[in-house]
Amino acid sequence: MEYLVLLCPRCGRPSAARARSRSHSCPYCGATFQIAEATLVERAPSGREAQSIIRKLLEGSAK
Ligand SMILES: [Zn+2]
Repeated sequence: MEYLVLLCPRCGRPSAARARSRSHSCPYCGATFQIAEATLVERAPSGREAQSIIRKLLEGSAK
């Protein structure tokens, strides 16, 4: 199943959503938003790929 790496419109942090879902809730701040309204960072072919992209994004922003 394809996943999308999205940036939360409220806190700006990346999280993974299933490509077919329409709305998503941010695991960090709890905001629920429409996937069409969020910034798409990258598409990933699996949840594992999506998590690895997110880890890199979070590591990059921490430096
Ligand atoms: Zn958030």
